[in-house]
Amino acid sequence: MNAPFLHIDRPATAGETSPKSGTATVALIVPVHNEEAAIAPFLAAVRENIDPLKDAGVAFEFIFINDGSSDATLERLIEAQRTDRRIQVIDLSRNFGKEAALTAGLDCCDADAAIPMDVDLQDPPHVIPLLVEKWREGFEVVLAKRANRSSDSFLKQRSASMFYRVHNWIAQQKIPHDVGDFRLIDRQVIEALRSLPERRRFMKGLFAWVGFRTATVEYKRDQRIAGQSKFSGWRLWNFALEGITSFSTAPLEIWTYVGATISALSFLYGLLIIAKTLVFGIDVPGYASLLVSVLFLGGIQLLGIGIIGQYLGRVYAEIKQRPIYIVRRTYEGTD
Ligand code: UDP
Ligand code: MG
Repeated sequence: MNAPFLHIDRPATAGETSPKSGTATVALIVPVHNEEAAIAPFLAAVRENIDPLKDAGVAFEFIFINDGSSDATLERLIEAQRTDRRIQVIDLSRNFGKEAALTAGLDCCDADAAIPMDVDLQDPPHVIPLLVEKWREGFEVVLAKRANRSSDSFLKQRSASMFYRVHNWIAQQKIPHDVGDFRLIDRQVIEALRSLPERRRFMKGLFAWVGFRTATVEYKRDQRIAGQSKFSGWRLWNFALEGITSFSTAPLEIWTYVGATISALSFLYGLLIIAKTLVFGIDVPGYASLLVSVLFLGGIQLLGIGIIGQYLGRVYAEIKQRPIYIVRRTYEGTD
């Protein structure tokens, strides 16, 4: 059984590698799915920004998670690792999705802090030193907020903004607007995330759920450097559903109130019909109103059942207790 509360202490080694003094290690956690063309430019751009931090006592490592790529992504990663021993590659047995890939990266990370990043340079590496600086000031979470989303299509901007609004309106746990997975999290936050047992992982929500002292830095989101977005409209819709169902039971509970209101109105309407019949006698017409109310109630009921289905499906996935991801092989930098 899990304890009803979780207390996370810094690991014993943290004394020597405190983020505020001495050397500290920061792991960049990069899930990749069919990104053969993006890896070399990503590494070049990141190295340029992290090398100057060496003098400030921050050592970086890369954890790439190959999320079931069908192109030469894995080969590119292994090649890169030959010349840079800071690179670690986790090869998953198939495509498990970005959330699972990130979880795999965090699970094997033993650095003092981690920064999840996309490989397409949409999370710009020049923000890394800013994140580290805030961390050294003592913040346990440093969010990178997209100050400008003009690189996204109009539809994506509108739907993203609507998602944040709806989510934060009904969810118990609010998530910050326009903040993706790109952020720095301290060791303690990594441990807290690891302690969450759920299989269906909406990382943005989980990051927010664990809390901790948080700072924000802003950046402008650029276009992807190579390849294509892996998130189609349909996948984004499912992602939004995942977020809402993971952090709110409001859609499930609202049916109590919808049902109660409709029942109360029906009861009053019933009384009205009885009174009318008593006073004016039996009145046959009413085909249109009958059909409208039957169809309306039928629709409402199906919607309610569908929403129960959304949650039930997720309960089913949780209860099977399958692992979140399966690792085929790990390529350590020190092989
Ligand atoms: N990604 C992944 N597994 C997937 C889909 C995406 O690991 O099933 C990775 C992808 O390689 C990239 C990051 O997640 O590094 C973000 O993906 P993408 O740029 O397609 O998302 P977008 O920026 O369009 O939201
Ligand atoms: Mg992208």
